[in-house]
Amino acid sequence: MTTSVALHEVRATYGIGERRVTALAGVSAEFDAGTFTAVMGPSGSGKSTLLHCAAALERPSGGTVTVDGTDLGPLDETARTHLRRDRIGVIFQDYNLLSSLTAAQNVALPLRLAGRKPKPEEVAQALEAVGLAGRSAHRPSELSGGERQRVAIARTIIARPAVVLADEPTGALDSNTSRHVLELLRGLVDTHGRTVVLVTHDPVAAGYADRVLLLADGRLVDELSDVDAGHIAARMAALEATC
Ligand code: ADP
Ligand code: MG
Repeated sequence: MTTSVALHEVRATYGIGERRVTALAGVSAEFDAGTFTAVMGPSGSGKSTLLHCAAALERPSGGTVTVDGTDLGPLDETARTHLRRDRIGVIFQDYNLLSSLTAAQNVALPLRLAGRKPKPEEVAQALEAVGLAGRSAHRPSELSGGERQRVAIARTIIARPAVVLADEPTGALDSNTSRHVLELLRGLVDTHGRTVVLVTHDPVAAGYADRVLLLADGRLVDELSDVDAGHIAARMAALEATC
């Protein structure tokens, strides 16, 4: 299998002096192309930092991050922006949609920013893929939380990124709506061969993945290939008890 994203001894620290915090204390992990990995761990364990480093949104203070064979370290900001635009899709808990734009305009935005004029069919297809064909003219305020997250996913998939990184994308959604979003992420892997990394604290959400990486105190402490929700919940409870 080809490695899509590789982290090698990645370290991340914030602040200086007494306020110095180690968010990642040397994390190594590989994410193969066409696989779905969940990243779990107690609050503050470094999950978001790991995702931001993999997404080229943050520069680690040590170690290397490789995306599709490209080492991010030597890249300047322009090259990082291009790589992010062309290969990486990021989905956040709070959707990050622009409130003044319609669903269709939000979905078209990444392509416009890349200097392309998206075809209306292309935008319509992306919205249809997430079950929102009838909502293209709606603004975010006219959509439910689940619909907003699906617009965000449509905006991600229209650029056809090889890697999709999602930070608690179902954190604000009810369980039915979450299921729909998770099935969309699973479909990106199964139907389109994308690499998905999902940060979540929900064992049911993690159950959609092929394996689960567990973080604690900025370190990788376990990897579970049995993604049964009960098993994951028990392992998480044990981890939280020791933190
Ligand atoms: P998680 O997503 O698992 O909750 P984070 O990666 O957000 O954890 O944070 C890991 C640690 O780094 C925490 O102790 C957090 O307070 C700290 N941290 C994260 N971002 C910053 C920042 N921008 N400035 C200072 N500390 C931060
Ligand atoms: Mg987080």
